[in-house]
Amino acid sequence: MAYYVGVDLGATNVRAVLADSSAEILGSARGSTPRGPTGIAVTEAVLTHIREACADAGVDPRSAVACGIGSIGPLDLAAGAVENPANLPDRIDRIPLTGPISKLLATDNVYLHNDTNAGVIGERFHSERNPDDMVYVTISSGVGAGVCVDGNVIAGWDGNAGEVGHMTLDPHGFMTCGCGHEGHWEAYCSGNNIPKYAERLHDEDPIETALSFEDPDFSAVDIFEHAGEDAFADHVIEQVGHWNAMGIANIVHAYAPLVVSVGGAVALNNPERILDPIRNRLDEMVMSNIPELRLTDLGDDVVVKGAVASALTAGTGDRSRL
Ligand SMILES: [Zn+2]
Repeated sequence: MAYYVGVDLGATNVRAVLADSSAEILGSARGSTPRGPTGIAVTEAVLTHIREACADAGVDPRSAVACGIGSIGPLDLAAGAVENPANLPDRIDRIPLTGPISKLLATDNVYLHNDTNAGVIGERFHSERNPDDMVYVTISSGVGAGVCVDGNVIAGWDGNAGEVGHMTLDPHGFMTCGCGHEGHWEAYCSGNNIPKYAERLHDEDPIETALSFEDPDFSAVDIFEHAGEDAFADHVIEQVGHWNAMGIANIVHAYAPLVVSVGGAVALNNPERILDPIRNRLDEMVMSNIPELRLTDLGDDVVVKGAVASALTAGTGDRSRL
């Protein structure tokens, strides 16, 4: 029996699973991502969770034939490592991954991807049509995409393709992005930035609203909870829909996908309020073929299932390789 390992390395949690050749998960382990002292502690946590997932399934790690990893970035693909991750403390400079995992599993078949690329690999593998052209977009604490064109998952030389959240959508730069630049998609539409955007919109046009910007716990959740009963909350959601539609229209024009699959906490928790405004606008924004726009079926498991799919298909998500 051949076994496959999948790893989801996030800024908050690490997950590892062991699967069989039909991608069925036989064992799993999860825990918090260490905050230091150095990146090696994160490497060790990944190795520990792989060992635990294997133990959970009663399988020797050396019986695994391949491993896929979906990780926070930025990546250094040549080194098989994460380099100065943006969402972990500064003392975590470098997280070696492919080398140590390869040693633990006694296989050279270790595939490292950023998390959205693992997402598109999982979406492709698990979708009915196994399309050669599709995009996975995550709308979560950030915005990003994994892109598959003509059957190739686009990584870029360093593994960091698909940072679409940092595309400039607003030439007036009404909002400043966490990366320091103005007018980026993510500055308007990520879970972290929707409340800041709402507050700025309200500063410009202080109409009456039940939303309380002074509340230290004010978050995107409050805005979506007031939808349908608060005109200002509806206005914010419409504006977020406008920027999301523009971002996705840019992706459609660049890559001509058949399917755009959307995931990430903001979309998963508010599927209609995120997807409907995009659907309503794509017709007028896109001059080429309009792709199918859908919510991911894989939910929170999209990255770890994508990592398993990568291990099974040599980093491609192409089921015909099975
Ligand atoms: Zn940015």
